[in-house]
Amino acid sequence: MTRPSTGGRIEVICGCMYSGKTEELIRRMRQVMIARQSCRIFTPRMDTRYSVGHIASHTGAKLEAEPVNSMQEIIRKSDDVHVIAIDELHFLEDDPTAVLIGCQSLADRGLRVIIAGLDQNYRAEPFPGMMQLMAVAEQVDKLYAICVHCGAYATRSQRLINGSPAPADAATLLVGGLELYEARCRSCYEPAR
Ligand code: ADP
Ligand code: ZN
Repeated sequence: MTRPSTGGRIEVICGCMYSGKTEELIRRMRQVMIARQSCRIFTPRMDTRYSVGHIASHTGAKLEAEPVNSMQEIIRKSDDVHVIAIDELHFLEDDPTAVLIGCQSLADRGLRVIIAGLDQNYRAEPFPGMMQLMAVAEQVDKLYAICVHCGAYATRSQRLINGSPAPADAATLLVGGLELYEARCRSCYEPAR
């Protein structure tokens, strides 16, 4: 006989910029709210692109969220809920192993943990925290944007400075929108040098 599920699980929504990660996270959390499950939505304090206290999709959809600095803070604030969501996980300035252990412990306690974040940085290298969570997640969804050059499915986030690829030695984390990043496919992506 199958063992009944406690409901604890990790779901990862990943992809490049503009692939609809926040849109999908908001969709899932709206359903959680319709089901009247207790939940909390967190966003790394560093991601202040739109407004503090919200997560916002490029579609314009928005939901209230609590800015946090660390996984410890998320754990402290997740005592009394069934579902937690973390948007833009790659921006959480915490040790990737601490993030992994924290998410695992919440799921082991029976929580549904929904994570959205970039799978690769602007150099097309995997983000370690996301990589580890994908390995242990019950569900991983990789979303695609549209390459602004050729219209194919885009998997990479091209960082631009005055229209040219950003150098390889620039900061890995840099908050920005259309003026800084383009969605590109593998063949149109220009590697950072
Ligand atoms: P992410 O969180 O992955 O950055 P968002 O949920 O914020 O994505 O935004 C997704 C939306 O961005 C799409 O539904 C679309 O309206 C818009 N968009 C802008 N540029 C692109 C693009 N190049 N490819 C696909 N969608 C894009
Ligand atoms: Zn392309």
